[in-house]
Amino acid sequence: KNFSKEDIMALVSDEDVEFIRLQFTDMFGSLKNVAITASQLEKALDNKCMFDGSSIEGFARIEESDMYLYPDLNTLEIFPWRPQQGKVARLICDVYRPNGEPFEGDPRYILKCAVKEAERMGYKFEVGPECEFFLFHTDENGMPTTLTHEKAGYFDLGPLDLGENARRDMVLTLEDMGFVVEASHHEVAPAQHEIDFKYDEALATADNIMTFKLAVKTIAKRHGLHATFMPKPKYGVNGSGMHINMSLSKDGKNIFNDPADELGLSKEAYYFIGGIMKHMKGMTAITNPLVNSYKRLVPGYEAPVYIAWSATNRSPLIRIPAIRGEGTRIELRCPDPAANPYLALAVCLRAGLDGIAGRMNPPASVDRNIFTMSKEEKKKLGIEAIPGTLIEAVYALEEDEFIQETLGRHVSQKYIEAKKAEWADYRSQVTDWEINQYLNQF
Ligand code: GLN
Ligand code: MG
Ligand code: MG
Ligand code: MG
Repeated sequence: KNFSKEDIMALVSDEDVEFIRLQFTDMFGSLKNVAITASQLEKALDNKCMFDGSSIEGFARIEESDMYLYPDLNTLEIFPWRPQQGKVARLICDVYRPNGEPFEGDPRYILKCAVKEAERMGYKFEVGPECEFFLFHTDENGMPTTLTHEKAGYFDLGPLDLGENARRDMVLTLEDMGFVVEASHHEVAPAQHEIDFKYDEALATADNIMTFKLAVKTIAKRHGLHATFMPKPKYGVNGSGMHINMSLSKDGKNIFNDPADELGLSKEAYYFIGGIMKHMKGMTAITNPLVNSYKRLVPGYEAPVYIAWSATNRSPLIRIPAIRGEGTRIELRCPDPAANPYLALAVCLRAGLDGIAGRMNPPASVDRNIFTMSKEEKKKLGIEAIPGTLIEAVYALEEDEFIQETLGRHVSQKYIEAKKAEWADYRSQVTDWEINQYLNQF
């Protein structure tokens, strides 16, 4: 797609679009939007739409709060779930300061900077996510619950239940919006699903993840269900991950591929893995942003706990899927769908590039089950754990200058501050678990 301003104007009038949503994403990955009517479109396309940044999480201070939205013309999409007369469309926007400079707190800008760095090194970064989510019932007030009547599990094909119907509708809607859906299936836990769409360049994929979540939530609601991307909504069953499949190409060729190597991987692939492993602790606060994220990263639920890689084992942090040739890729398995996709992809890319620039060979792969190893064995092999709580992850981010620099000073500072506050609030809660464990006994 390569839309001009005139193309957009024509499309909007031909398609009878009445409302246009100007979208952007805040620091915590929430989708924000300002709706305008078609009559204001020309002004918006001239980058003259303003909003008050001081009311957006992680944006500006009050005294410099005016921000401008610069629509990315290639992101025009009509929402298929809205009325087909007087349609609703969206444009994803970049956030700019009044002086015409990009706003350094805009997550999309941060990813763009990382992508530019890759381009300087001659690379294109391509990413395919695997988003998992739960579909729960809502109560009589329409509030989400964690209840489901569903009992199906991994790849099950049951008698069609509400969830299966909703998922089918989601896939069709996503296809309407130009997604290429490669797979969709029931996940391991009851009421848990996964929909995988085709990889694309990093920026497009991050935009797609935002659109994906909106579409999934919207369609779920239509079916009387609540879709949640909360990483671990239920004790005792798998949480929801967002595995990230990454590859680098140069002159249209996947450079992670090397048939001459024993595992079919190039030097760049090994270095990329090395870079991710080096920075993993510092990145975790971004890839796993919530207090709740760390309840997923525990043994026994197919989520990673240790910093290790393997081409044969499915349980480690970094896995190399069996496919080679143009499909050669590195799968990072810790991220969860609560992560801000722009920031998550930015830190993954920069960490991998740092590995390439510094020729960081990763430690030997670990093809055994780490969960059954003794402490001594892990120590001997140099296997460390990823941060176990949000606050550990925040401290690790504070230690990693490189990841902070990737995020920029503005975002690192605000992010760390906000996550410390989130932790402090959580830490002072008295949970049901504690009451059940202690109230009677002590
Ligand atoms: N739900 C698992 C996770 O938390 C992944 C399960 C799978 O896709 N094999 O990452
Ligand atoms: Mg999958
Ligand atoms: Mg899965
Ligand atoms: Mg996977």
